[in-house]
Amino acid sequence: MKEIILIKLGEMVLKGLNRRTFEDVLLKNIKYRLRGVGDINVRIAQSTIYIEPLTDDVDLDKVSEHIAQVFGIVAFSRACVCDKSIDDILTKAPVYTRDALMGASTFKVESKRSDKRFPLKSPEISRLVGGAILSACPHLKVDVNDPDITVRVEVRDYGAYIHHRTIRGQGGMPVGTSGLSTVLISGGIDSPVAAYMMSKRGLRLNAVHFESPPYTSLRARMKVERLLSIVARYAGAIEMHTVPLTAVQEAIRDRCPEELFTILLRRVMMEIASRIAERTGSGALITGESLGQVASQTMAALACTDDAAEKLVFRPLIGMDKQEIINLSRRIDTYDTSIEPYEDCCTIFTPKHPRTKPVLHFVRKAQEDADLAALIEEALQKTEIKLIEAR
Ligand code: ATP
Ligand code: MG
Repeated sequence: MKEIILIKLGEMVLKGLNRRTFEDVLLKNIKYRLRGVGDINVRIAQSTIYIEPLTDDVDLDKVSEHIAQVFGIVAFSRACVCDKSIDDILTKAPVYTRDALMGASTFKVESKRSDKRFPLKSPEISRLVGGAILSACPHLKVDVNDPDITVRVEVRDYGAYIHHRTIRGQGGMPVGTSGLSTVLISGGIDSPVAAYMMSKRGLRLNAVHFESPPYTSLRARMKVERLLSIVARYAGAIEMHTVPLTAVQEAIRDRCPEELFTILLRRVMMEIASRIAERTGSGALITGESLGQVASQTMAALACTDDAAEKLVFRPLIGMDKQEIINLSRRIDTYDTSIEPYEDCCTIFTPKHPRTKPVLHFVRKAQEDADLAALIEEALQKTEIKLIEAR
């Protein structure tokens, strides 16, 4: 029996976007997510996206898993394909729904006939299919109000379809419909979650990662690449900019008051990320900061950090508890990678007593005195770029 996936566009949110843009972008994103899963045709007709395997070896479980990661899809169904003849529908319906119905005690059939040339009306189709199912599974009872399972029959322009289970999608808006934004990605738990959340709002991503060799290792960078390749399952391919920050960090250590090390580092990160955003046509920065989580994320510290950013900054985790962030990172599958123990440039030269209420003009003055501009230029010039694909 031939099986396909149906995605109803009627179930999607269309806020401030025209339908064509939304559909075009979504179709492109679905195709990206399904590359490598086999020979599959993706097309749109009658407000529905059809995902059709073209060969027998396509694993539809895998396809479903990938579709469930594409933003802009609220729900979808796997469906059995029938000829547009009532005989074929009556033959296939009991067989296709059998496994699900064996575990149920009640069911109903709902039919929809968008091809009005089909000789039977919807109620008649439902009655006949219901009868065929009852003959095959005599333990079942019909319950039209609260059935365990609803079997749906749809007679459309190019075929008839039977399905009985709605699978939840990722929701959100198709990646790219909100523009491009730059995530500051560390190897921690928070920033991959922040990237996921903003991408869900339709942002395509590029990423900036700061490293400080030899204090941080190549393996630490590879961990960040793996994190991005997980985020890319949802967000699509991500261009990663790796910036060497060793010289800047050593200059901060040598030239600045110790209690300001962290806040100055955070400011430099914002400055460099803003420059990369500008260069790549990105409209905003994204960080994994959460109010009060660490000394550099108090309100005063965030104000000092924000002051150095030359772009709009999105901080989607700002009001979330650590446990909520962890739960989300588990759900999107970044958690296990995030907790691998590699060093991050934020954890070298950390002050014993970081200032939790830094005063902006003192911080600015300390940064001026340290004269970091030339080192920042140099870091920007040594930036390496790599495209990270979904894994
Ligand atoms: P995370 O879990 O994302 O590392 P965190 O709670 O450890 O966050 P910080 O280390 O203070 O917090 O970093 C705050 C934010 O700054 C991070 O969420 C990330 O957006 C950015 N950031 C931190 N370190 C780096 C880095 N090495 N490269 C790029 N961005 C970074
Ligand atoms: Mg961190």
